[in-house]
Amino acid sequence: MRRVYLDNAATEKMLPCVKQAMLDAMDAELGNAAALHYEGWNAKKLIEEARVRVARLINAEPEEIIFTSGGTEANNTVMETFRGKRIVTSSVEHPSVLEAARARAGELVVLPVDRWGRVDAGDIEKEAKVADLVSVMLANNELGTIEPIKEYVKCCKNYNTYVHTDATQAVGKIKVDAKELGVDYLSFSAHKIGGPIGAGVLYVKNGVPYRNLMYGGKQEEGRRAGTSNILGIVGLGAAARWCWEEWSCRKWAEVTKLKNELKRRILAEVPYSSCNSPDEGCLPGILNMSFRAAEGESIQLYLDAEGICVSTGSACAAGDIKPSHVMMAARHDAEVAHSSIRLSLGLDTTKEDIERVMAVLPGIIRKLQGMSTIKVGA
Ligand code: PMP
Repeated sequence: MRRVYLDNAATEKMLPCVKQAMLDAMDAELGNAAALHYEGWNAKKLIEEARVRVARLINAEPEEIIFTSGGTEANNTVMETFRGKRIVTSSVEHPSVLEAARARAGELVVLPVDRWGRVDAGDIEKEAKVADLVSVMLANNELGTIEPIKEYVKCCKNYNTYVHTDATQAVGKIKVDAKELGVDYLSFSAHKIGGPIGAGVLYVKNGVPYRNLMYGGKQEEGRRAGTSNILGIVGLGAAARWCWEEWSCRKWAEVTKLKNELKRRILAEVPYSSCNSPDEGCLPGILNMSFRAAEGESIQLYLDAEGICVSTGSACAAGDIKPSHVMMAARHDAEVAHSSIRLSLGLDTTKEDIERVMAVLPGIIRKLQGMSTIKVGA
C-alpha cells in the first residue's frame, strides 16, 4: 500500500529533476572545483550555475550566496559573526538559531511570542535600539506561522541593527525576496525544497559584517572552507531552478485547500481536538493539532503502523520526553504540547491521502484517550 507522507516539513522527497541533475554530475568529468584544470573548471562551472539559480530564486546577487552544509551551518555562521555581541531572537526559533545564539552571544534576549508563535513588533522596536543582531524566522517549522519580517526590519533599520531570518521553511512555499524583505542575512536548506540533504544557503547582503565558521581552504571566496560539495550544490541548484520555474501560487493554493479540509474534518470528527496553527498567515502545508489525553508519540506510532507518516515536536532523549519548546513558548500547557502532532502536506498530497488519515485517526485517538489516566470530558 502506498504510504501517506505527511512529514514534508522535516524533509521533502527529492524532485526527479534534482536526482537527474545529480546523476548527470556523477557521470561528468568533474574534479576538485579549486583546481586549475579541465575537471576543476567543469566543477567550478556547475557550482557557479547553481549559485546563479539560487540567487535568482531569492532575488539576490550571486556573490551574496554562500553554499553551506545546510540550514544549521548557515544559522551558526550568522551567530558566529555576532559572537560576543547583543543578539535578540525569538523563543520559537529552530535550535540551530536558539542554541547557536546561546553559545555565542555576549548578551542574549529571547523574545516571547503569542498563541500562534508571533513576536510583537513593539518588542522588536524596543530591543532593536540596543541590539547588534535581530534574528527571527520567516516561518515556523512546527506551527507554520509566518512572521511579519518586513515589519521587524523596519524597526531595526531605524537603529542600524542587522537582521537575520531563518527562511528554511518558507523558501519554495511562499514568495521569499531577500531585497524586498530588506534582511541582511537569510538562511535556507536544500532538502526542504526538493533538493538533497546536506546542502544549504546563507545569503549575506553585500557590505554587511561576516565571520567564518570554518577556516581552511579559500572556497566560497574565502568565506566557507572545505572542498565544495559539488553533488549537493548541483542538486540544490536544480531544486532552486525548479522552484523558480514551477513555483505557482495555484499549486500551493491547492495544498492550502487540502490542509483546510483536513483541519475541518479533524475538528469535526476527532473528539477533543484543537488546532495550534493560525488560520491566517500560515504556510500552505503545515497543520499542527492537539488531541486531549492522547500522546503525540503514540499517535505517531499508531499512524505509522497504518502507513501514515507525521511528526511530533517533542524531543525524546534517553527516555526523557520534553514537550516542544515552540508549543510551550506559544503558551500551551504541557499536556496540550505533549498531545500535538504536525501534519505537513506537500505538492504531491492528494484527497485520497486525507481520506486515508480520516479513516483511521478518529479511532486511534479514541483508543488512546480510553487508555489514558487523564479523563476526557470529565
Ligand atoms: N531551520 C528550520 C526552521 C528548520 O526547520 C530546519 C530543519 N528542520 C533547520 C533550520 C535546519 O536545516 P538543516 O536540516 O538543513 O540543517
